[in-house]
Amino acid sequence: MARNKKSKILIPQPQSRFLRVKCLNCGNQQIVFGCSATDVDCLVCGKTLLQSTGGKARILTKILEVLT
Ligand SMILES: [Zn+2]
Repeated sequence: MARNKKSKILIPQPQSRFLRVKCLNCGNQQIVFGCSATDVDCLVCGKTLLQSTGGKARILTKILEVLT
């Protein structure tokens, strides 16, 4: 019997840390909180860098460094 395996399982990752990200739009670098409950926009151009998905944030840009 074929099992309908869907890779939709989200692996919980400890993202309650600060990340240094780079805006793909303008190249601005800024520090964001990886577990932010609200969307984080680029301070320069306003592009959304981090999107809140209800508990865990989704990073929409390039992570340069994870600050522990
Ligand atoms: Zn930007």
